[in-house]
Amino acid sequence: MSTFSGGLLLSFDKTIQDKSIEQVPLPKKMVIPLKQYVGVPCEAKVKKGDEVRAGQVIGESANPNSIPTHATTSGKVADIVKKSPHYKGDYVPAVIIEPDGKDEWIELPKASGDYLQKSPDDLLNLIRQAGVADFDVDSIPLPTKLGQAKEKSINTLIINGIDIEPFLASRYRLLVERTQDIASGIEILKKILGVSTIYIAVSEDIPALRSAITQNATRIVTLKAKFPQALEKLLVKSILNKEIPPEGTASDIGASIHDVETVLAVLEAVRDGKPVIEKVFTLAGDGVNSPKNLRARIGTPIDHIVQYSGGFRGTPGKLIIGGPLMGIAQYTTEIPVTKETLGLFIQPEAELTIISTQKCFNCGMCVRACPARLLPHVISAYCEIGEFEKAQDYYLSCCMDCGCCSYVCPAKIPLFHWIKYGKLQIAKRVEE
Ligand code: SF4
Ligand code: SF4
Repeated sequence: MSTFSGGLLLSFDKTIQDKSIEQVPLPKKMVIPLKQYVGVPCEAKVKKGDEVRAGQVIGESANPNSIPTHATTSGKVADIVKKSPHYKGDYVPAVIIEPDGKDEWIELPKASGDYLQKSPDDLLNLIRQAGVADFDVDSIPLPTKLGQAKEKSINTLIINGIDIEPFLASRYRLLVERTQDIASGIEILKKILGVSTIYIAVSEDIPALRSAITQNATRIVTLKAKFPQALEKLLVKSILNKEIPPEGTASDIGASIHDVETVLAVLEAVRDGKPVIEKVFTLAGDGVNSPKNLRARIGTPIDHIVQYSGGFRGTPGKLIIGGPLMGIAQYTTEIPVTKETLGLFIQPEAELTIISTQKCFNCGMCVRACPARLLPHVISAYCEIGEFEKAQDYYLSCCMDCGCCSYVCPAKIPLFHWIKYGKLQIAKRVEE
């Protein structure tokens, strides 16, 4: 089985894969950020006191690299705030909605069976109107990503069915529960991109998927269950045995990669005219009473999700959006679910890693684990002392943010923390 160098073979409890996706009930208050992707935020198109319905556009931007924001249930706009905490640590504007409990929708266009007759541009337009983002680590508006791919010579479509981290299982569940819809969504992406070679990457083969997709040219590739296989650069390496250039994307080597949830959002946008109002993710970790695979309305506060799942188990230590290796720790449970929520992970206080002040003793374990073939101990040390240019000389920007280096370090040096810090500082300097 073809794979990449480095990475981690982790053994963990896989029972979460057997849990069907559950719908989270509506909360009493929803916080809907006007920016849920990498790009320009939307401007609010509603005002305090307005009544809204699910699917209604509440934010938009004229910038072509943006997608609209929709109300995710019916109710009253309680406030428009300029600074709502964002999971990456900064603030974004947001619309606060008090649900009325009726969950009324705007009138959606009639479902259309002949959507594949539409032109690629018309299909892209429907995807934009529905606010579909690429539900991956750096979530960008899908029309932007597809537009960039169309400008290059794309010949391969890769559908990513591998969960971003080992403890998360939402992509696996979508593959099992919505196999036929995924097959239909792939046909739309095929038409937009004009490709004929399609792969679906899965961590373990799923027979139902195989039988549902035999009617077209799709190939199912079963990849080694090694972290962080779900990252685009490593999918391309494992499936096509090609390397994406350091500052490049998959489209530079003729491929376009989209995860299964994005494929489903494309189908619902085009076939049903349905905007993105929900997100599927896994709530995992020993710090929650009942880990689950969940579907929640965008804007649902994490506190509500935890309460629905039986509350915290023991004293909570760390709440992470994403997974324990690549995710970002949060300081408040008021952060809402967004299009960027790939998972929620709660560590109890007793499991927290104590960061040591020990120095690196050059064991080389972080180097062996690094899938980007970098020298994490060197890059991290330069970032720690503020020598960011020197860190760049060691290819800081090629780091894939996987966290493998920190995970394996026997000295418990927070390598990934310093590397992330270095990237942030460089990004700030570029902005200035
Ligand atoms: S340096 Fe970056 S890519 Fe390499 S292991 Fe650390 S986090 Fe992953
Ligand atoms: S794993 Fe830790 S101790 Fe070993 S070389 Fe890397 S930073 Fe140094």
